[in-house]
Order: sequence, then structure tokens, then C-alpha cells
Amino acid sequence: MPVEYELDIPQSLDEALNALASDNGSSVTPLAGGTNLIIDIRSRRERPARVVGLDYVSELRAIDCTSERVTIGSRTTVTDLLDSAEIAKAAPSLVDAARVFAGHMVRNAATVGGNIACGSPAADLVPPLMSLDAEVTLSSKSGSRTVALADYFTGYKQDVRNADELITQVAWDRLPEHSVNTFRKLGRRKGDAITVTGVALTVVVEDGVCQRARIALGSVGPTVFRARQAEALLEGKVLSNELFDAAARKAASESSPIDDVRASAEYRLHTIETLTRRLLTQAWARLA
Ligand SMILES: Cc1cc2nc3c(=O)[nH]c(=O)nc-3n(C[C@H](O)[C@H](O)[C@H](O)COP(=O)(O)OP(=O)(O)OC[C@H]3O[C@@H](n4cnc5c(N)ncnc54)[C@H](O)[C@@H]3O)c2cc1C
Repeated sequence: MPVEYELDIPQSLDEALNALASDNGSSVTPLAGGTNLIIDIRSRRERPARVVGLDYVSELRAIDCTSERVTIGSRTTVTDLLDSAEIAKAAPSLVDAARVFAGHMVRNAATVGGNIACGSPAADLVPPLMSLDAEVTLSSKSGSRTVALADYFTGYKQDVRNADELITQVAWDRLPEHSVNTFRKLGRRKGDAITVTGVALTVVVEDGVCQRARIALGSVGPTVFRARQAEALLEGKVLSNELFDAAARKAASESSPIDDVRASAEYRLHTIETLTRRLLTQAWARLA
């Protein structure tokens, strides 16, 4: 490694939180799967003084589904998500995202907590989790608090986590029966590609009326975010193709993409509108 750092390998969550409590965490960096952090250290983008490896904090690697709620420990890997029959039932959008996430080797190491914590607008598990109204639990030696994932990011790679806190879990209430939850990622290739645009959708319908709409967008702003104005167009309405057109246009107008090596801002806006309309139309067909 080009950068020298001290490495702590705690054997329990308590030990990990104790390690993070030193210097109020300011000089301590958590390490989960390492699929971002190790690369950043190798390229000297990150120069941590002290690293706390979470490999042996087994409490954090768990999927717990009750009839009411789904809870995923932050050390749960992308492969763990794909291997879980419970997640397949409770969070189809998360499975859609896990299936197109990197390649097998990265999926075996990459974690849910690391994906949230890296703060990338292209983080593929975040739009699905946001579309499920997931909440993030942050724990430190002095206690735990819960933050809605939709309020977690404050700017590009910035969030509400204090330096002495770990993301310990992410959880949400199960969706009701008459609902659709789905995610589409557009990339330059079918596999191992960074997202050009990503759309996650949840629609809950009762007696033909949309009770809840969640549209979470990736790679078209400084953070993953919910297209709240587009959602508001759908909620409380009897769904129709005209509404889908309006909501898709609104989702694009709420986006602020950039031009980069993968796509132009114009193309991203076009594909946000197209993907949003397509997902809404498909969801409606399934609900009908
Ligand atoms: C070849 C390749 C392909 C990739 N493809 C994709 C892809 O398709 N989609 C995608 O979204 N990402 C992709 N990534 C990025 C990366 O794999 C993911 O973001 C992954 O989920 C990061 O998780 P990790 O456990 O490896 O995090 P780490 O690298 O261990 O950590 C990342 C950051 O999160 C912090 N952190 C980790 N865990 C916690 C925690 N519990 N609490 C607080 N902070 C924490 C670390 O300090 C660090 O800052 C790819 C990476 C590579 C190398």
C-alpha cells in the first residue's frame, strides 16, 4: 500500500464502536468490503491514519425479515442479497440492482453499508432502498439514532454521519400486497458498468387509487434523491398514461445531471424521462 495506516480488527460491534470513539472518530476510517476504500487508498485519494476493519463484526452481517419489517445489517454483501429468498420477496428493486452490480468478485465483498456510506450518486443500492422508504441506523459508543435514507445525504459525498458513528443497519416497513417495487439501471455495458442513469420505483395502489409513489433517481444529481414533485403528481390519483407522461417529465425536470465520460446531461435527462415512464407503465400493467 502506498499509504501507511494502523489497522484495528475488532471482534465485536462494541469493540468497533470503541475504536471509532477515539479522537471522536476524526482519524478513524471504517473498512467494510474495501471495494471503494482500498482502491482510494492505493490511488492516494484517501490517506487514513487508522482503519477499523469490520470483517469480524458478525452482528452487522444479517438479514432479518418479520411480517412487518425488513432489516439488513450494514456488512451484508451484495451476494448475500442475491442469495436471500426473503429479500427477493420483500425488495424486488434491491434484487434488480444487485443483479447488475459490478461482477461476481466485487459483489462477494461489496456491502450495503459501504454502498450508502460512499455517498456516490451512482451507488446502485441506494435508489432501491430510498424507494422502499428505508431508514439508516447510525451507532456510536454513546447510542444509536435513525435517519430516513432520503434525508441522509447533504451534498456530493456528504452526509449526516458523525465521524464516530457506524452505519449499523438499514430497515423499512414491508410493502403492502398491491404494490410494485422495481429498479432499472442504464449503463454503457450490461455488466460491470457505472450507472449512467438509475430509476427505482415503488407504487402502492388501493381500489384503483395510487396511495404511495416513490421515484428515486441515481446519477442525475449530486446525490441520489427522490423526485418528490413527480411522486406528488401520482399520489391520490387514478393512474393513467397521461399521468405517467407528466410524472416522467417532472422527474426529468427535478434532475440536474452533468456531462461526463459516460453520457451527456441531455442524454441523462432523456433517459430519466423514458425509464420513469416505462417503469410506471409496467408497474400499472402488473397491478392491473
Ligand atoms: C470493479 C468495481 C465495480 C463496481 N461496480 C459497482 C456497481 O455496479 N454499482 C455500485 O453501486 N458500486 C459499484 N462499485 C463500488 C463499490 O463496490 C460499492 O460502492 C460498494 O458497495 C462499497 O462497499 P464496500 O463494503 O466495499 O465499502 P468500502 O470500500 O469498505 O467503504 C466505502 C466507504 O464507506 C465507508 N464505510 C463502509 N462501511 C461503513 C459503515 N458500516 N459505516 C460507515 N461508513 C462505512 C468507508 O469508510 C469508505 O469511506 C464498484 C467497485 C469496483 C471496484
